[in-house]
Amino acid sequence: MKQNLFIDGQWQAPVRGGTFDVVDPATELVIHQAPAGTTEDIEKAVKAARHAFDTGPWPRMSGRERASYLRAISQIILARKQELGRLEVLDNGKPLPEAVWDMEDAAGCFAYYAGLAEEMDAKPEETVPLSDARFSSKVVREPIGVAGAIIPWNYPLLMASWKVAPALAAGCTMVLKPSELTPLTALELAGIAEEVGLPAGVLNVVTGMGPDAGKPLSEHPQIDKLAFTGSVPTGSRIMAAAARDIKNVSLELGGKSPFVVFADSDIEKAVEWIMFGIFWNQGQVCSATSRVLVEESFYPALLERLVGETAKIRIGNGLVDGTLLGPLVSKGQYDKVLAMIERARSEGATIAYGGKRPVGMETGFFLEPTILTDMAEDSFIWREEIFAPVVCIKPFKNEDDAIRMANDSRFGLAAAVMSKDRKRCERVARAFRAGIVWINCSQPTFTEAPWGGYKQSGIGRELGIWGLNNYLEVKQITSFDSEDAWGWYLKPDDR
Ligand code: NAD
Repeated sequence: MKQNLFIDGQWQAPVRGGTFDVVDPATELVIHQAPAGTTEDIEKAVKAARHAFDTGPWPRMSGRERASYLRAISQIILARKQELGRLEVLDNGKPLPEAVWDMEDAAGCFAYYAGLAEEMDAKPEETVPLSDARFSSKVVREPIGVAGAIIPWNYPLLMASWKVAPALAAGCTMVLKPSELTPLTALELAGIAEEVGLPAGVLNVVTGMGPDAGKPLSEHPQIDKLAFTGSVPTGSRIMAAAARDIKNVSLELGGKSPFVVFADSDIEKAVEWIMFGIFWNQGQVCSATSRVLVEESFYPALLERLVGETAKIRIGNGLVDGTLLGPLVSKGQYDKVLAMIERARSEGATIAYGGKRPVGMETGFFLEPTILTDMAEDSFIWREEIFAPVVCIKPFKNEDDAIRMANDSRFGLAAAVMSKDRKRCERVARAFRAGIVWINCSQPTFTEAPWGGYKQSGIGRELGIWGLNNYLEVKQITSFDSEDAWGWYLKPDDR
């Protein structure tokens, strides 16, 4: 595990010399002291990234050259997926097979953006047809500059990859600030960048607390672009900080995503996808389908089966074979979630399953997978993000009713619909006010497809070509090609 920050291609101790505890959420043991970066380290990191962008080779290389670095990073992540996956489990708590899958996705993300970097060479400019034949115009795309990335703890290396890979592919340089709850694999990524010989200053990783390291990064005047994933309140602060210098900003925030299940659905498939939609990664997924809406006639049978299958989920340390649900990420998150479940109960919700620490598991931030029913539509538990394996289920009467309930939220990240009637699925998919819609499934995510939300779930899109465009400026180059005089001030007759 790395002891220092990665700034300007070198491992550097934090200027103030501080550290913070990294805790294994399954054992509650402190497993590492990570370097606590502060304003001074952010200053150094931004300076290095600025210098690398303004004078270094990175933005001036061909896409093909940059792609070779990205592919090398991808291959190392893949070769080390078991070891990096284990580190992710110690840091975050998720079951090992999920963590290894994340590592494969992270490697895939670097390989995908390597491909897009190469495509940029093949299409260096685009002609813009104009209505005036005396002019010609073309568009070129250029890296936006120095990017600051601030990321959460739920997919530590994957969230880093979603930002680092497209930014580097575009020719930007970056300062990355991982979550203080899960700093380990971001520092490993810095080690991989060093191993592949990435030029100094192109990728800088500063671990530390949000207010000490994230805030100065978001406020730094030498940053051209801020890319943030995290909660709505922090996103709002980031946007306010960006507003001061008119920084380009993209935000991937929270959600309370609905899953509408019609009565013609296959019960086994419905139960499986509902469970995957909310229990995968301990429900700590921004797009988790945490509000399940079930057609009235199907509701009793579905609930009974869901409770039955949920009771079989094996809870445990993510490193133990067969574990399907690990601990929540931290004590703070654990206490917050337990308090939210208690508040929901006191406000009238029924706990159909779970809601407490599993019997016999005294250590670790373990919570039973939890199914809540009978909550009011205006209750906080139905409206607010819990970010845990806690699902709220409600019956609905008809399609219009389901769409109204699904869209009645300040969030709009994801939504899902299940029915054997394909036309109905298409209709409902179009009616959802959300950036990501799944039909007959919930959660599968592909690097090629855009990711992001409507409403308070964010601004902009990551992944796919949209992710690359986040880090590119658009420049038009327009030329007056006519031999004729322009003739506005100096009329041809005056000569
Ligand atoms: P958070 O907002 O508490 O923290 C996110 C990051 O911001 C961390 O690195 C933190 O250190 C930093 N930060 C905190 N205060 C800051 C400040 N004042 N200035 C700058 N940076 C600051 O969120 P979290 O608890 O780490 O993550 C959970 C949230 O992230 C959930 O709401 C979840 O929905 C969201 N999320 C969204 C997506 C998505 O793609 N939309 C993906 C994952 C998580």
